[in-house]
Amino acid sequence: MNIIDLSNKSILITGSGSGIGREIAIVASRLGARVNMLDLSEEGLQNTSNALMGSGHSSHIIDLADFSAIGCMIENIVANQGPLCGLVHCAGISSRKPLNVLKREGFSNVMDVNFFAFVELVKQVTKKGRFIDGGSIVVMSSISSIRGFKAKTEYCVSKAAVDAFVRCMALELAPKRIRINSIMPGEVLTPMGAKSREMAKLAGFAIEEAPLGPTHPEEIANLIAFLLSDATKTITGTSIRIDGGVTV
Ligand code: NAD
Repeated sequence: MNIIDLSNKSILITGSGSGIGREIAIVASRLGARVNMLDLSEEGLQNTSNALMGSGHSSHIIDLADFSAIGCMIENIVANQGPLCGLVHCAGISSRKPLNVLKREGFSNVMDVNFFAFVELVKQVTKKGRFIDGGSIVVMSSISSIRGFKAKTEYCVSKAAVDAFVRCMALELAPKRIRINSIMPGEVLTPMGAKSREMAKLAGFAIEEAPLGPTHPEEIANLIAFLLSDATKTITGTSIRIDGGVTV
């Protein structure tokens, strides 16, 4: 028996041109899903497409910071693929700015991609006829939402906003039995994870090692596949830590 079966589910995955988003697309396709991938990078999407199993997948180049493009893209995907069963928002960016260079305008890019694009995605996918009742939404948060990191204010704030939004949406979407949850990783072995470690080293900040070490993106993908599947019907409004024990 396979409790994590995504057969015939159409799933939208942002940030699928790299790292965690790519791994989710691969794992979901192996479990039978049709994946619809969104990313800025054409090359990244092509590389992910080449690694998928099965057929009927689609990829779309989009800058998610341009909110006006999101609704139209989702309308087209649903017209071609039928209603979505899952949404995973993995596209994300980080920044390093100490207090003296923090500006209100400077927040916009990180907040736009990590948080406001997700708000728009949820608004658009849950419009009538676009998302099945009982579907599942997952977003990448981070342990940065509950912990402080030097010079990472913008990123930490964007992830805390994501978690607060998830709790509110769990209540608003419950009448349609749509579940919504976030994942809070520590260090993950992706290009973003490597860059973050490198930047911390260059700035001379102490790097805290997790007792179980960094997480492989496939492990995050496995957890998200479970949340997308019908194996759970009531996990909602929660933020799940997967951090090798670094916040214990
Ligand atoms: P990554 O940099 O490997 O991949 C991010 C993807 O998002 C890229 O393919 C990029 O092209 C895409 N993207 C960025 N801006 C975009 C935009 N405006 N429009 C469309 N696509 C865009 O990063 P990752 O490590 O896979 O991170 C995925 C998510 O997990 C992020 O939200 C990140 O904050 C979160 N996360 C990562 C780590 C880590 O250590 N890697 C830890 C905690 C949380």
